Amino acid sequence: MMTMYTLRCPGCEEPFNLRLGIGPAKMARFYAPCPHCSLPIRGRSHGQDLESHRVEFEAEALPSEASLDADFVTVDPNVPSKYNAAQRGELGTFPTMTLVHLVGDERAGALFETFSRSRTAAEKLWPKVRRIYEYYLVEDWRNFDKAGRAAFDDWQAKSTTHERATMAHQAVAIATISMTDGIDDSARRYLYRFHVKHTSALRSSAYIHSARADVASGLVPGLQRSVFDVIDRFIGHFEAWQMGVLRRVMPPDRLPLLRELTLFRDEFDILRDLYQQGFETVCKTLRFAVAAQNTVKRQSPGDFGTDLPNGVDLKANPTSLKAFDDKLSNAARLAFVRQVPGWQDYAALLNNRTRNAIGHATARHDLRTGRVFSDKEPAGVQYLDLVADVFGVFDALCTSLQVLRAVRVVSSPDFKNAPL
Ligand SMILES: [Zn+2]
Repeated sequence: MMTMYTLRCPGCEEPFNLRLGIGPAKMARFYAPCPHCSLPIRGRSHGQDLESHRVEFEAEALPSEASLDADFVTVDPNVPSKYNAAQRGELGTFPTMTLVHLVGDERAGALFETFSRSRTAAEKLWPKVRRIYEYYLVEDWRNFDKAGRAAFDDWQAKSTTHERATMAHQAVAIATISMTDGIDDSARRYLYRFHVKHTSALRSSAYIHSARADVASGLVPGLQRSVFDVIDRFIGHFEAWQMGVLRRVMPPDRLPLLRELTLFRDEFDILRDLYQQGFETVCKTLRFAVAAQNTVKRQSPGDFGTDLPNGVDLKANPTSLKAFDDKLSNAARLAFVRQVPGWQDYAALLNNRTRNAIGHATARHDLRTGRVFSDKEPAGVQYLDLVADVFGVFDALCTSLQVLRAVRVVSSPDFKNAPL
């Protein structure tokens, strides 16, 4: 819903009206441009419901009758708006209409359904699922089943290691898939094709030995813990990046409409940290995908062949999985994933250019243009694009946890398909 505030700009001292969209939010940092001098004025809103909702501004609030005919701006921190949309009815002044216009009538239903489903999953389901996975990681099976029953009516207690792993990861998948859309299938396709390769690679004892060694050394359990922790961090800041779904749901021919819109949130620091942590963590799991690919192609998980991948400056391929991890940059590791048919789009979720742009020390969010600039990216990238890229990294991250599950269960003592 929209609430009207009358503020006095702390810069030019002119009064103006702000129509502010408020929704349930733990805490949102946003800003609004003064319609007279364009000074960005920061604000914070708190409160999960209308009664407890509070908004604070870095500007003096005036009684609302002070300036009925003063200029007004519309800002909804949850929906992209137009920077200078002064006229009612223009694109970007009515949030719901803006969203319908952006995605088109056909996909509007899917978008609003994703919003409500994902919010419920982040707020209600995830805290329960998090407990299941915590107990799984420390193998506390009594509490694991207790947490499982609390989260899912049809939870069934299992007794084998690999069945429990499957239950834990399915629980996480149910929650995280609810937070993403059903339209962009880049991550789903990666996981499907990984499973096909993995199943086929399990005929190779070298592959099984490699997977078991990675579990025994603590590499896989350690990665399960860190991927899970980063997923939890993402979900803790769900509101900062949920609007990233827009770019995924919009039909491609409508994407240019986003260029004239701005998301008036002031949470660049949160997005940057999530992106970087998510990116680094996913890249650590890529070795398992390429191990399956190498085994299918060349019968050995560490055999990268001699053909160099495109798009990266490598003199020679790594000679082992350890060298893949220790000697290659993330960009080079991604190049090996990108060259596999069906995996290109997954690699594209991890946009190295975004990471370079935001990771640079000079990176800053310019509130006057709604763009993120750095020395590496002098033309800037739209804040909305960064939000969408963070969304993509979340999708990639959740998928990488399911890859780890497949590798982990190869070591289960009761894993039937595996010869010793
Ligand atoms: Zn002003």
